Amino acid sequence: MTIEIRQVAEETYAIDCGSDPIFGLRQVAYLLVDEMPALIDPGYTSSAARLLNNSAQLDLQRLSYIIPTHIHLDHGGGSGYLAQQIPESTFVFHPRGAGHATEPSRLIKSFRRVFGEQFEDSLGPVLPVPPDRIHVASDGETIRLGRRQLALHFAPGHAPHHLAIQDSLTGALFCGDALGYISDDTADIPFPTGLPPFDPVAYQRTIDKLASLSPKVLCYAHHGARNEVQRLIRQVKDLSTAFSDIVQKALDAGEDDKRISERILQYAKAYSSQKQLPIIIEASVSGYIAYFRSKKQPPQSTNESVT
Ligand SMILES: [Zn+2]
Repeated sequence: MTIEIRQVAEETYAIDCGSDPIFGLRQVAYLLVDEMPALIDPGYTSSAARLLNNSAQLDLQRLSYIIPTHIHLDHGGGSGYLAQQIPESTFVFHPRGAGHATEPSRLIKSFRRVFGEQFEDSLGPVLPVPPDRIHVASDGETIRLGRRQLALHFAPGHAPHHLAIQDSLTGALFCGDALGYISDDTADIPFPTGLPPFDPVAYQRTIDKLASLSPKVLCYAHHGARNEVQRLIRQVKDLSTAFSDIVQKALDAGEDDKRISERILQYAKAYSSQKQLPIIIEASVSGYIAYFRSKKQPPQSTNESVT
């Protein structure tokens, strides 16, 4: 599979590594060229390997920083592999993700639930990142790359260990999955996504926080960068509010998960006919339902993902 490289801002390149073979989500990593180059959202191991093997012109061996926006498989799963391949690089993780990166066994269990027992056959193994290669981020801290600084912002909601990263040189915001999932096979609609322990209240707060940074371009980890910043941010917030309202009312009325999922899918279909919509909606709805159900009931042990 070939990779496509596209410049999305000054000294900023989107590297499209193709679609994953399980859900068909396109993986896009971002390279920031500077004195100390950085790579954001390297993806899972086999996409990271594709990246290394097909982009000799990018000189990725010089990378100083590798920054997964969060530790989900499709964003940071290839970190341990890259740590082996690029020995001088430092990895930046949210404090709630760093421990899983160094000791990924619970993470792998949760990936098996989401991506299937055999996910490593197609997406590659999840290898540990040595602790001495990790920089644990603080909220609001900046990292200097040379001409530019990267500001690291905690961005919980989609996952508690999510970072959003803003580039001082271009105003680009690397938002991972914090501002929804867009697709390019229909109109760009950013659907909120999040498996349990998704937190829709934190998600909305994060949307407001990221909007206040006035990003110039949104660099999504799936399907690339977009310039229509205000419309996309407004839309993901409106959709998340609507999903929260629908799920809460349906739970109050005693509806089961299947019926609630149908309701949300019906609502979403008015906006988009993208072919991955049912998969995305099913995943999102489980996050909303688990959250609002936990608010109605005393906590009990669940099979919930650690991520
Ligand atoms: Zn994610």
